[in-house]
Amino acid sequence: MITIQGKGVSTGVAEGPLYFYKRAVTTLKRYTVEDTESEWNRFKDAQQKCIDQLGELAEKAREEAGDEAAMLFETHQMMAEDLDYEETIQALIMEEANNAEAAVTDTSVQFAEMFASMDDTYMQARAADVKDVSDRILNILYGVVQGGIDSDVPVILAADDLAPSETIQLDKNKILAFVTEGGSSSSHTAILARTMGIPAIVGLGDQMKPEFEGRPAMVDGSTGQVYVDPDEGTVANLRDKRRRQLEYQQMLDELKGKENVTLDGQHIRVFCNIGSPEDVHSVLLNDADGVGLFRSEFLYLNCDDYPTEDYQFEAYKKALSDMDGREVIIRTLDIGADKQIGYFELPKEENPALGNRALRICLNRPEIFHTQLRALYRASAYGHLGIMFPMVTSVWEVREAKKMCEQVKSELKAEGIPYDEHVQVGIMIETPAAAVISDRLAKEVDFFSCGTNDLTQYTLACDRQNNDLGRFFNPHHPAVLRLLKMVTDNAHKNGIWVGICGELGADLELTETFLSIGIDELSVSPRSVLPLRKKIRETDVSKVRDELMDDLLGEGKIF
Ligand code: PEP
Ligand code: MG
Repeated sequence: MITIQGKGVSTGVAEGPLYFYKRAVTTLKRYTVEDTESEWNRFKDAQQKCIDQLGELAEKAREEAGDEAAMLFETHQMMAEDLDYEETIQALIMEEANNAEAAVTDTSVQFAEMFASMDDTYMQARAADVKDVSDRILNILYGVVQGGIDSDVPVILAADDLAPSETIQLDKNKILAFVTEGGSSSSHTAILARTMGIPAIVGLGDQMKPEFEGRPAMVDGSTGQVYVDPDEGTVANLRDKRRRQLEYQQMLDELKGKENVTLDGQHIRVFCNIGSPEDVHSVLLNDADGVGLFRSEFLYLNCDDYPTEDYQFEAYKKALSDMDGREVIIRTLDIGADKQIGYFELPKEENPALGNRALRICLNRPEIFHTQLRALYRASAYGHLGIMFPMVTSVWEVREAKKMCEQVKSELKAEGIPYDEHVQVGIMIETPAAAVISDRLAKEVDFFSCGTNDLTQYTLACDRQNNDLGRFFNPHHPAVLRLLKMVTDNAHKNGIWVGICGELGADLELTETFLSIGIDELSVSPRSVLPLRKKIRETDVSKVRDELMDDLLGEGKIF
């Protein structure tokens, strides 16, 4: 048995074979083929697989986001079998003896240029489609595995690191756990693992050897240990641990339907963080009061091109209607930093976390923001929507964003499209600047939601992605907690509510502090709702408040 120690970032025990993530390597090689007939058949096979995959994706999109979303994939299917497209490839293979990869690449460029040069904007947009379809065929020809996993049985997925865009596209039914060489607790991959309830261990470094591929393994997300070829005793211990965890879960289930109220009668709302409409299922299963953070950028990360207004509308509408009247706060697009999306074509930056990200992109590229806001307001007619803007630093940014909301509302009114007039608009407090001027910002919005992952990163000047910073990245730092207190006081002085939607919200060591500060809402991963409810119901704030506030604001004993 080999035992490897990493950092557990999502709890739970998993057992299964290790599988290394297969990343796409697609460098075009050109060569002359001798047997043109069999090269043509190789293309035809790839084309058929592409059509089949698109059919499956269309069905999935139909179930998850409706007919409009499915249509995109059906259009791609038609393009893959378009006669002109096929004949061009055929000529390049059969007459000029090109290999299939070169023939598809050249045809893709030729067709994309032709579409792009047309006057009609609809036809111009087909350039991206033909490139997309061709890339799919090329991936099949290169043997790139869709979703990174080619296994019939669920696996423990090992990788050097996983970008958020890779994680979101994985087939979740095939993953028992994630184990990665790099990564950190507040990276988005760890956050996604917690949202999906999948055990995860990061920071394993070079201890994960390629020769472990396919070997039986066990993972303990609470201790951060990975066991390759586990011995009988370890298997028995961990299975027993899993059984005890299930029993604990059954005990927590008894708390469903109960209030989030302390022993001395203080109420706090417990909401959930989600990344897609499908996550609503676990929000309801864990009996949360609402959704406090829907990371809308994951919709964008899951697409190969800008998601249309209708596509987004269907996704937001689904989340809102499935939540059946409970509040859903959708955060507007927060890309940049670690969440890069190819089709945005953002210039490379030296310091992306301090660069063009989130609201900055939306204000600089209003056409993207406008599409999202239209989709959001249209969806507001189907449930209880709140909208919030990420990465705010100044009052003017909020005013400009709100102005765009007003513009979208008047457009919808003029078009006779229904929307909710009373959508609450809030901001995330993620930068020290926003916290320090929260007295002014509170006059502009309906609520604050503190993003403590970024607030910690920016306050302590500590990269949240960098696991090596270890104890220097300390979200319990009094600077962070004092800012939270200051933001809460400023919110309450101005009659608005304040929540925490960063990972810190689920940290049970701080629940008493948050209650003492007067935080109104905690938004956490679905699995954290019931443990948090348990902690809240066991707390008597009147007994701990004075000492905790002394510690926080006075000279400090524990910090
Ligand atoms: C945060 O920064 O705390 C937050 C909730 O946003 P994200 O983790 O997506 O950056
Ligand atoms: Mg953030």
